[in-house]
Amino acid sequence: MATDIALRVRPALAGFEPYDPAFSPCEVNLSANENTYPLPQDVRERIVQALANTPLNRYPDPLANELRDELAAWHEVDRSCVMVGNGGDELLFNLLFCFGGPGRALVVAPPCFEEYKNFAKMCETEVVEVWRNEQDYSLDDEALIDAAREAALVMLTSPNNPTGDLVEPALVRRLLDETDALVLLDEAYVEFAPAGTSLVSWVRDNPRLMVLRTLSKAFALAGLRCGYLIANHEVIDVLAAIRQIYSEDVLAQTVALQAVRKRSSFEPVISTIVKEREELARALAELPGVTLWPSSANFLLARIPEAGSIRARLRDEHSVLIRDFSYAPGLSDCLRITVGTRSENERLIGALKAILEVE
Ligand SMILES: *Cc1c(COP(=O)(O)O)cnc(C)c1O
Repeated sequence: MATDIALRVRPALAGFEPYDPAFSPCEVNLSANENTYPLPQDVRERIVQALANTPLNRYPDPLANELRDELAAWHEVDRSCVMVGNGGDELLFNLLFCFGGPGRALVVAPPCFEEYKNFAKMCETEVVEVWRNEQDYSLDDEALIDAAREAALVMLTSPNNPTGDLVEPALVRRLLDETDALVLLDEAYVEFAPAGTSLVSWVRDNPRLMVLRTLSKAFALAGLRCGYLIANHEVIDVLAAIRQIYSEDVLAQTVALQAVRKRSSFEPVISTIVKEREELARALAELPGVTLWPSSANFLLARIPEAGSIRARLRDEHSVLIRDFSYAPGLSDCLRITVGTRSENERLIGALKAILEVE
């Protein structure tokens, strides 16, 4: 019998499709900005040990206070300024759930992470798009500030996904000084940027600044689902009150705590990825027809004629998966390539040379 389920869906939620990252099983997966290196041995050992001692019959600590304390110590803020989430995504959703809503606007600067807009729409929040420059993807500071004057929230990404560039601190300063909006700086990839890039230290003196971080990228824990927000304690209190109480499970809390405690063990991996990024950029730039943008993250954005078919041939003929953005506004013929290990990167370059018939 036919049902009318579609008509019963809350109107703001009708028309959403399940997220499909199109993960075809490939030998080399450079499509999702994951860290493809093995976990540092000492971290792995601690995690295994800690997991073995974690009982599963008890509920988790809702606020993950041990992990919060470790994150607070690292970032030199009070525990009351840290919130842990089931991936950065949960925190992004909850920010819109709390601070968006009908009659309020979110300002974004596309091309950027598409979840900002999706979550805003789910929360019935108007989305104001201030597009980046078509050529170099630079931000339009004046237009952003104008839009932010009328908005509840601004979300900027530094380094930006998928364009790889950083947000100038001067722009964040102006957004805080010249508007009344809450400003979220998404630093999901900041560990790959030059030291001193993060603006976490600004949170203490700027109660409307919020900084998002995640263990999914530099910490090689995308499967764990753990992200965190550093913000004024009043923002954190609101988030604490509305969150799904047990969203961060005991296994995730346990693993995240060990990884954050041993954060210095990740430094060699991160600097290897940064070196490999420059190596990969050199190799890509030598290929015919390729345009590249400078990246401070663990991925590169490349424009190449026939991007969609090149991506399909990489997958089907060479078992190498990268992300196609050629469908997206502002990103025609653009591919996003995660920086992998030396051998993964070489495999990609070899495959591209074969497809482009370079000797
Ligand atoms: C990956 C990513 C995140 C967070 O990812 P989680 O896995 O949910 O922590 C947030 N913002 C951007 C821009 C990202 O690319």
